Amino acid sequence: MKKYDYLIVGAGLFGAVFAHEMTKEGKKCLVIDKRDHIAGNIYCENVEGINVHKYGAHIFHTSDKVVWEYINQFAEFNNYINSPVARYKDELYNLPFNMNTFSKMFGIKTPAEAKAKIQEEIEELGITEPKNLEEQALSLAGRSVYEKLVKGYTEKQWGRDCKDLPAFIIKRLPLRFIYDNNYFNDRFQGIPMGGYTAIVEKMLEGSDVLLNTDYYEFRKENADIAEKTVYTGMLDKYFDYKYGVLEYRSVRFETETLDMDNYQGNAVVNYTEREVPYTRIIEHKHFEYGTQPKTVISREYPSEWKLGEEPYYPVNNEKNEEVAGKYRELADKEENVIFGGRLGEYRYYDMDKVIAAALKAVEKEKNN
Ligand code: FAD
Repeated sequence: MKKYDYLIVGAGLFGAVFAHEMTKEGKKCLVIDKRDHIAGNIYCENVEGINVHKYGAHIFHTSDKVVWEYINQFAEFNNYINSPVARYKDELYNLPFNMNTFSKMFGIKTPAEAKAKIQEEIEELGITEPKNLEEQALSLAGRSVYEKLVKGYTEKQWGRDCKDLPAFIIKRLPLRFIYDNNYFNDRFQGIPMGGYTAIVEKMLEGSDVLLNTDYYEFRKENADIAEKTVYTGMLDKYFDYKYGVLEYRSVRFETETLDMDNYQGNAVVNYTEREVPYTRIIEHKHFEYGTQPKTVISREYPSEWKLGEEPYYPVNNEKNEEVAGKYRELADKEENVIFGGRLGEYRYYDMDKVIAAALKAVEKEKNN
């Protein structure tokens, strides 16, 4: 008899949902994580009474009613609506691109005026077959929106000039002709009151949890500890990088506590000029309408990624997709191992998609 039904590698959202559901089924789960905390990338650190999103700002949004009801079992959500502001030199614009943005940019009032202005700029450029990202964005939104709000931000994100980036990166540039600053189009949105870590803590009730425990070390001595393994670590690492290393894009956070109650008046401010080295400043307290006397801000610097550093965004270009496909084939054949989550599948997943994927994996297991 093995000691556990499941060894779950990774105490992030995927692992926690899986553990919670299987514990309810009467299974015994051991969850391990190499970090010194649970919750993976949605972990929040309490600083000055403020939930600081340590691995980047996380806003829950979904149109999936089942997932929304699922997550609401574990927390009440506040009514936070993501409405970022863009700062270009000394000008401030609302995002996403909407009538508030156009009104400020062009001094117009009506949707018809905004459409005419943008159309005029697009026609002036006369780009018929965009050869690169710059031409693509110009042909979709005109010169003003591109130069003030797209160019610098995108170049910082990718570490390259827009002229040297492929056009397909930007398929659409949604322009919204209503006065509406809600960034997401989803039906449900908010921030969990009490933070994300508390949700994961609840999900892991009834499971055994070991932190500071790396799977590759742990399995040397504990190969037979569980019937099955749920693996949410890096897909390529599991197979010892035999087809090569899957690439990620990284981001560095510079977090600072300030002796003032309100630094920028909004949770998210994007810096869209190239000369400012960071892409965004997050002021964490505004996600929860905090009234603490101090405030905590994080500057985000996109950066190259090297093996061994924290992996953030999978680079879904052709080369990586081909390699990931080969690893996924191996993963499918691996007996008694379930691969899941953003690293285990090498996919960018928002939180709602991770929950849906974990619930699907649970259903598959139950029917096995
Ligand atoms: P993770 O949270 O990464 O959990 C995996 C865990 O496995 C980690 O804790 C890791 O330490 C552990 N692990 C890895 N290897 C090993 C090993 N060898 N041994 C032991 N443990 C190991 N989604 C949204 O819906 N809204 C947002 O606003 C949003 N913002 C984001 C911002 C950023 C910068 C990023 C990168 C992602 C964002 N996401 C957002 C996506 C969200 O972070 C993911 O959907 C979610 O965290 C994925 O959960 P997971 O369990 O798959 O992975």
